[in-house]
Amino acid sequence: MAERLTDAQLAALERALHRQRTEITAAAARMAGSLDDVRAARSGSDADDEHDPEGPTLSSEWSRISGLSTELEARAASVEGALERVAAGTFGTCIRCGQPIAPDRLDALPAAELCITCARQT
Ligand SMILES: [Zn+2]
Repeated sequence: MAERLTDAQLAALERALHRQRTEITAAAARMAGSLDDVRAARSGSDADDEHDPEGPTLSSEWSRISGLSTELEARAASVEGALERVAAGTFGTCIRCGQPIAPDRLDALPAAELCITCARQT
């Protein structure tokens, strides 16, 4: 049976979540800049992809960045959800079974919303 988080552990995890949110926001801003560059490079050349030697490269760069940005959005949402649970006082409690999430699991993954038992069932 996992023990409840102490106030100090909760405070440390909340700081970690805020740090992660800052990092994700910064990464998303860089990503938006890269997308603008690719977009500018695409519209700058009036040749179509088939005849433009840079076309395919830009397309794959585009999908790589879009994939990363989707992943960032998912991470941002889970960090945001965790911070909402901190505010609501339910942080550290599994959203599925209501049991406490083990502190070492939260250390590794502060945004975890499921206890290890539920996570293994997913
Ligand atoms: Zn659970």
